[in-house]
Amino acid sequence: MKPASFRYAAARSVTEAVDLLSEHSDAAKLLAGGQSLVPMMNLRLSRPEILIDLNRIPQKDGIYVERGALRVEMLARQRSAERSELVRANLPILAEAISQIGHSQIRSRGTLVGSCCHADPSAEIPAVLAAVDGSVRLEGSQGLRDVPSQDFFLGFFQTALAPDEVATDLVFPLPPAGTGASFLEFARRHGDFAIVGVAALVTLGSDGSIARAALALAGVGPACVRASQAEAFLTGKRAEPTAFAEGARLASQEIEPQSDVQASEGYRRELARTLVERALATAAARAVREVA
Ligand SMILES: Cc1cc2nc3c(=O)[nH]c(=O)nc-3n(C[C@H](O)[C@H](O)[C@H](O)COP(=O)(O)OP(=O)(O)OC[C@H]3O[C@@H](n4cnc5c(N)ncnc54)[C@H](O)[C@@H]3O)c2cc1C
Repeated sequence: MKPASFRYAAARSVTEAVDLLSEHSDAAKLLAGGQSLVPMMNLRLSRPEILIDLNRIPQKDGIYVERGALRVEMLARQRSAERSELVRANLPILAEAISQIGHSQIRSRGTLVGSCCHADPSAEIPAVLAAVDGSVRLEGSQGLRDVPSQDFFLGFFQTALAPDEVATDLVFPLPPAGTGASFLEFARRHGDFAIVGVAALVTLGSDGSIARAALALAGVGPACVRASQAEAFLTGKRAEPTAFAEGARLASQEIEPQSDVQASEGYRRELARTLVERALATAAARAVREVA
């Protein structure tokens, strides 16, 4: 399949990309790793009149730890983050989640920022961003703004990006000491999108009880969702199997999965329950090692 014809412009700075977006508005599309956009163009699901390539913008592929957060710039590739010592030491759940995206060839080109802007409800990186209460930094003709993840992911492939905005960074606040985390998913074949994915973080208090739990699920709604009732139930409980089982049951009740060709609504709900229970147990065991 070949895409519909389009014009091409290589932006040399974020400002130039914003100017081009302002000029062409909905007729334009930004190109990052191309791993979602190019297949969509080839299938003619997306027909931009002009493609604005971000890949020639220098010095926008960094990964930093600053002010208690991991900041990932817009051209950082998924594979770079997956292999980054900084990520593995400070936010290992991000590397764990990325390792489950597609195949390494896709991760070598795909960016973390592009994944969030694409906003596939089954995607791993948005779920991790949501679980740590992260945010997306946007630059547009009106200036800069930081949008919290819960306001950024609006629905099925929909975000808060305005037509003239470029997403420049993802900001993942680092979890407090005593936190263990786990990302689990189930896909029908290796490399497929997950049917359900779960990001779980458990922070243990000095008495061994759960001081804080965070659960974000992918594949169970139009955007990734936080299981806030399960989180509230788990807070203050002892970190033991009965609590994980009840937390998982609550999480499976508060989500609103849809049936599709991959799985029925009931199957997704049951899968979510199983994965949440396992992810909580793994996160808590990792938190115990962290505290010890
Ligand atoms: C076979 C295959 C399997 C895959 N499996 C998975 C999977 O299991 N899990 C998963 O999460 N993903 C999967 N992907 C998608 C992959 O992760 C993509 O890399 C990712 O979704 C998009 O990142 P990208 O950098 O390639 O963005 P692009 O494809 O270049 O862009 C995607 C969208 O985001 C917009 N965009 C990109 N960058 C910016 C920016 N800086 N500011 C504003 N808008 C921007 C583009 O305009 C476009 O609309 C798969 C892809 C393929 C081809």
